[in-house]
Amino acid sequence: MAIALGLPGYRGSQLFSWIHKRGVTDPEEMTNLPRELRDHLATLEPILPMKGGTVLRSSDGTRKLEVVLADEARVETVLIPDGDKLTQCISTQVGCAVGCVFCRSGKDGLKRNLTAAEILGQIFLGRGEHLSGERLSNVVLMGVGEPLHNLERVLSAIELMGHPDGIGLSSRRITLSTVGIPSGIDRLAKATSGKTALAISLHAADEETRKRLVPGVSASLVDIVKALKRYPLPKRRRFTIEYVLVKGINDRDVDARNLVRLLSSLKVKVNLIPLNPHDRTDLMPPDDGRVAAFQKILTSRDVSAFLRRRRGADINAACGQLLA
Ligand code: SAH
Ligand code: SF4
Repeated sequence: MAIALGLPGYRGSQLFSWIHKRGVTDPEEMTNLPRELRDHLATLEPILPMKGGTVLRSSDGTRKLEVVLADEARVETVLIPDGDKLTQCISTQVGCAVGCVFCRSGKDGLKRNLTAAEILGQIFLGRGEHLSGERLSNVVLMGVGEPLHNLERVLSAIELMGHPDGIGLSSRRITLSTVGIPSGIDRLAKATSGKTALAISLHAADEETRKRLVPGVSASLVDIVKALKRYPLPKRRRFTIEYVLVKGINDRDVDARNLVRLLSSLKVKVNLIPLNPHDRTDLMPPDDGRVAAFQKILTSRDVSAFLRRRRGADINAACGQLLA
């Protein structure tokens, strides 16, 4: 930016630090820049291409922020405190083309990709909602959109998040959640040397059920597993497998046994997510007994399986309840 404006390089560092480290996006507040430069910056496109909309605060501490983009499109970002950690869930697209049957975000298809600035900007907006003493410790790309369908911009955002003079969040602390697109997984592996944590939204252990739940992906489960085997997973790290449990569709004992078999060659932990009901689906979660039985089949065969706690359910911030 500084170079494009014909400024010396150190001005670029100053600008970067104001924006990325301190989260200041109003040129007027950049007090170490000369007056003429601040005035000039104020005449350019706004640094933050979005503004905050409604904020909803859950009784469990979760906060959901509406993000209003320059073209009036809207996405959402969620802050999730957990002990001394603060995780922010970030959106990558307006809508989503995959159309998983239980997901509210994809109900109206894809509207557009977010730019790298719009992805990163959610962190700056989120800072305005930090409580005193809170500091962002983790990012999950798990909001609206399929990150591997917008990978180049997501990669730019990940790189900027990691910059030591900026937010300084190393890619180890970033989790990308995807339905599993082998070419995208390979590209991510190369770009971040396998450091970005991967969560794969599998939801099924046989091709037929997978097609039914996740209609918009052509890769087979076998191809996805192969892509994961190629991923340069750092030592002591595991993949997260996300499995939304849907009553009567993927919650039988045989589904759990098939899942164990499918995952047998991978280092994984499974997050079981009983479907969060919402107004755009008739599908339901299994009852608690069925969920426990499913989990038991996995754990008794040495597959770590956790029940994902529902966070922010009272403000529709739980999984699959984010609106496009
Ligand atoms: N597109 C990416 C990331 C965003 S979705 C992906 O699918 O992984 C984030 C997670 O929310 C996914 O695991 C998704 O399957 C889950 N999810 C979507 N709708 C849900 C619902 N109604 N109940 C529970 N989880 C849901
Ligand atoms: Fe898209 Fe993920 Fe929702 Fe599927 S679950 S429609 S991939 S956002």
